[in-house]
Amino acid sequence: MSDLSFSMDDLVSLCKRRGFISPASEIYGGLNGFWDYGPLGTELKNNLRDAWWHDMVRCPPTGPDSEPLSIVGLDSSIIQNPRTWEASGHVGGFNDPMVDCRETKSRYRADHLFCLGVKGDTSGQIYAYLENDDESLASARKKLGKYVKRDLADEELDTCPLTDLSPEELAITVGPDTKTVGTLTEPRQFNLMFKTFVGAVQDEDSAAYLRPETAQGIFLNFGNVVDTMRVKVPFGIAQVGKAFRNEVTPRNFIFRSREFEQMEIEWFCHGDDAAQWFEFWCDVRKSWWESLGLTSDNVMMRKHDSDELAHYAKDGCGTFDVEYRFPFTAPGYGELEGVAHRGDYDLRRHEEFSKKKLQYFDQARNERYLPHVIEPSAGLSRGTLAILCEAYTPDPERASKVYMAFSPRLAPIKAAVFPLVNKDGMPEMAMKLHEDLRRRWPVQYDAKQSIGKRYARMDEAGCPWCFTIDSDSLTDQTVTIRHRDSLEQERIGIDAVEGWLAQRL
Ligand code: ATP
Repeated sequence: MSDLSFSMDDLVSLCKRRGFISPASEIYGGLNGFWDYGPLGTELKNNLRDAWWHDMVRCPPTGPDSEPLSIVGLDSSIIQNPRTWEASGHVGGFNDPMVDCRETKSRYRADHLFCLGVKGDTSGQIYAYLENDDESLASARKKLGKYVKRDLADEELDTCPLTDLSPEELAITVGPDTKTVGTLTEPRQFNLMFKTFVGAVQDEDSAAYLRPETAQGIFLNFGNVVDTMRVKVPFGIAQVGKAFRNEVTPRNFIFRSREFEQMEIEWFCHGDDAAQWFEFWCDVRKSWWESLGLTSDNVMMRKHDSDELAHYAKDGCGTFDVEYRFPFTAPGYGELEGVAHRGDYDLRRHEEFSKKKLQYFDQARNERYLPHVIEPSAGLSRGTLAILCEAYTPDPERASKVYMAFSPRLAPIKAAVFPLVNKDGMPEMAMKLHEDLRRRWPVQYDAKQSIGKRYARMDEAGCPWCFTIDSDSLTDQTVTIRHRDSLEQERIGIDAVEGWLAQRL
């Protein structure tokens, strides 16, 4: 497993080289905050999505009452009636305070900017830099050193969030991408939703938004699901899909992008039981990420401070984030999933705005009420990044110098089949094995270049097992299995290969 001590540039370059992920519209110079998933990236992301769907919807965990949970799936529209976003609080509240640089026209999220100054010196200049960005910090330090005309020791430096600065201090601050002082504006609100127009006429009446989260589609369908599925509270509705946020500073590869995917569950329960379910879901979701191979040292739960709580969470008892130690946050952690106690905020607001009754009649309790909601909201794109980071394993001894240690469940290619040489009946036998296996799993056939180069390609693709047909195979009907992580080799009968794989997948 990876100790995460590699540079993100190495991972980004492997992702591009091996067809996992590359910038969207790359031939036109890309578009900041948008990414395309190549053949291997698509398989990897789909495997993560399918694992979530299987473990949460098809075979959900057992609840605190030892009963299996009931969770149903949904696929709602990306564009909904714009009243949805007024009710949800996104139109009024889905804002991040932003800071603009008047000189470079760059725009930053205020809570992502930090400042560097000389300890105890309130008269000099202050230098802003981007959080978790070593290059930006190094540049701020260089500019500060130049300003005071000497090299500064670590102990002499003072840092604080930009949001802690007074207006006087902001006036003597130099932005991350300029050398001029006082170009940063005070933080102001900025709506992160992408706006579009529905129909031929483009005016305020036809304005609509691309959803910034999948959750609201679930709330809008709460009544439909109760009416059609014979579900009883407590139950959950799950959805996977695209979400769009016009992030001000998209960065760290796919960690913060403008188009991404989420995997969300809304768990509806009685208000009296919500605290118990909240605790349950925090445990379930953290263990789930660990079950996929994220080492427990790299995963932690963090409770949101009261000033971070989203508009909905104020009614509930808070939010816990499942965080992962990404290479660019290490030794710190970055959010992978939020588990929020939303109270009855969403259903109450949609009742108010739509004037439709969303109350639930609980026969067992003989009570009519608005269910409370626990929401485990995970990033599929961010999860894919965490899986890529965890799998990235440098190994100077190998031809590829690195291999991707995906768990077999998530590996985009489950196995590869090679003829040792491309002649003497070996390709025919290997092709036959490949054809048999690919009916059940994504399996690749490769006959090009030396066997060493083929292993190297599969190591970078994170393929757990390679099966090689050699001259002995023709006589004794056996193949060599090469294990990606241990590099061990063993021989088994060609007829046993399918069963061998089935046991491990
Ligand atoms: P952040 O504080 O990082 O902006 P958030 O708290 O706004 O995230 P939520 O609204 O809770 O995020 O969304 C749930 C999940 O969706 C996050 O845990 C994350 O995995 C994912 N997510 C949110 N914004 C982005 C983004 N811009 N790019 C990729 N994934 C995202």
